[in-house]
Amino acid sequence: MINPARFLRPASCVLILALITGIGIFLSACGDDPDPAPIAVPASAPIPAEAVSQFSGKQAFAHVKNLTDLGPRPPESEGYRQALAYLEKELAALGWKTTRQTFKAPTPVGPVEFTNLLARYSPNEDPDWTVSPPFLIGSHLDTKRIPGMLFLGANDSGSSTGVLVELARVLSAHGKAADNLELIFFDGEEAMLENITTRDGLYGSRYFAGQLNARKSKPKLGIVLDIVGDKNYPLLIGNDSHQNLQDHTRAASQKLGIDSWVRSHPNSIVDDHIPLINRANLPVLHLIGAFMHMPYWHQAGDTLDKVSPEALERTGRLTLQILHQLTADQ
Ligand SMILES: [Zn+2]
Repeated sequence: MINPARFLRPASCVLILALITGIGIFLSACGDDPDPAPIAVPASAPIPAEAVSQFSGKQAFAHVKNLTDLGPRPPESEGYRQALAYLEKELAALGWKTTRQTFKAPTPVGPVEFTNLLARYSPNEDPDWTVSPPFLIGSHLDTKRIPGMLFLGANDSGSSTGVLVELARVLSAHGKAADNLELIFFDGEEAMLENITTRDGLYGSRYFAGQLNARKSKPKLGIVLDIVGDKNYPLLIGNDSHQNLQDHTRAASQKLGIDSWVRSHPNSIVDDHIPLINRANLPVLHLIGAFMHMPYWHQAGDTLDKVSPEALERTGRLTLQILHQLTADQ
């Protein structure tokens, strides 16, 4: 059964490069929105309201700790291999199936092998993973390779990775509701050199977005989370997020009483959602902590003490509330 169409305004923003940081920040100029594009969300297995409060920040935090304990996770590293194995084991224990997407790409430091990890609750009817569930939820798993520095990336981006695993636990308790989701853990979000450019960084999401176009069907929308673990800095809604998803996020944050923490950002921030927009034409929601104000961002100080169960819980519940709103009776 398909719900009455949800109307999402397609992204119509022209991105103008304003400033490059490790995660670039773009100014966006949005013109008049053309006719809204409908998006159909299945109603046969809605995300139930009770799932929202079942998300545990403590459980998400335990995953962040376990990942951080593995050490740095840059592409091709032993830490990254162990992180992949950890996620596969944890997700399997929750009843989720995983598949690796491995590819080699040229980088400024030579060819590098990357591995994205995809997860679904019941892919049995789609053994080739070519028919997409409606919702794609993503986080990057890699940490930035910084020569001479022990960079653990507890917040960037162990935090959002832990949130995704806890989302998997919550939804697996609701049977078919979990079928609505595909989880994607991106490799190679971070640039090999200092800054993300058109040729360095977003390796996993660029490859994944290209592969999406070869599927029989694509997700209806994507949500990308990054650097979500610090309660002392607001969670930003990137300005290139689809207008309808921004509206849902603001409504959801009000419903949860966290609207002073969740803030609309005036700019687009370069992250793994960009290839999903530009290459796969997906409506996306980009939620990212205000990293530009975090003194430890891309520094050795990005350690577990910067991450709190409370911030993880806010992020996880916000995500579930948005999904609930999208699948609730219209
Ligand atoms: Zn980073």
